[in-house]
Amino acid sequence: MRLAPSVEIDLDAGGKAFGRVVFPLEAPWNGRHEIVLPACVIGHGKGPTVALWGGNHGDEYEGPLVLGQMARELDPEAVEGRLIILPSINPPAVLAGQRVSAIDGKNMNRVWPGDPEGTITERIVSWLDTELLSRADVLMDLHTGGNAMDIVPMSMCHHSDDLAFRDRIRAAQLAYNAPLSVELRLPPDRPTASGRAHDRGILVVGSESGGGHPARPESLCVCHDGVRNTLAFLEVLPPPVPLRARAVTRLTRKWGFQAEMATERPGMFVPYRGLWDEVVAGEPAGRFVPLDDPFATPETLRFPASGLIAARRASSGVQPGDVLYWIVADVSGEPRRAIDGAGAGA
Ligand SMILES: [Zn+2]
Repeated sequence: MRLAPSVEIDLDAGGKAFGRVVFPLEAPWNGRHEIVLPACVIGHGKGPTVALWGGNHGDEYEGPLVLGQMARELDPEAVEGRLIILPSINPPAVLAGQRVSAIDGKNMNRVWPGDPEGTITERIVSWLDTELLSRADVLMDLHTGGNAMDIVPMSMCHHSDDLAFRDRIRAAQLAYNAPLSVELRLPPDRPTASGRAHDRGILVVGSESGGGHPARPESLCVCHDGVRNTLAFLEVLPPPVPLRARAVTRLTRKWGFQAEMATERPGMFVPYRGLWDEVVAGEPAGRFVPLDDPFATPETLRFPASGLIAARRASSGVQPGDVLYWIVADVSGEPRRAIDGAGAGA
């Protein structure tokens, strides 16, 4: 049986409107018979359509907080284009305060493009893919490290082999102007929202803003200003005041599994290094004791790659597959023209 959502907002209307997208449930969950995605559409003039969403993972709060604030504060007269704002796309995870859906246990950022006849997570994803990505010229997918990871506030975009597209992506990252800009090349088997959008030719500007702790004013500020700066770069909003003379972000890349140091066993991990540390492949990363053998001599784990620590596990308790560090490397030895000239409007 196909359970179609009811879309209680006009995604193509002008002006500013608040509404919701309602997904009926096959069986009640915590007394709820439906899952509601809050939505705001702001349309005015001619310009690109930007889909902005948060709450892809339910324990990541900067995105929903920032998008809720922006929807409240934005004047539609100042917009040239269309913003479709969904602060909380995964309520079964957001309401439970956890990374994955409390209904079907699925990770919303691993099931793209979803399935209109699948579980609730797959149905929401399918609707986002069909109705939002089909409209969007740009996607801003806002994440943090959630409960599990502490992450340097960063913009996160995808690598493209198309040089013109790559220049535009990097220009958008410089405009976002987080402390760190990360260019991502996904492992081949990871079906994420941003990867799907990128493959559809959509300009993706994602973010990772903190995590591992309550939302902090600094990480909220980086995320809010980053979204605002990116919308100005796209000329959807007027330039911020004061106009920044130059970007300060550091452009790096996170490519494939080697950039993520993970554990294959359950254990207790004591990290030796922290955010922003520069490390060398082979140097000690921390010590590890199996959860089921606390008498064991601690094992020294070593970094699999050289670079900058951009994220670190927030807890010592780890399970198989848990990521301990992100190790990013500076982008260097490539043409700098587009990078140096970018961000002038932000
Ligand atoms: Zn996330």
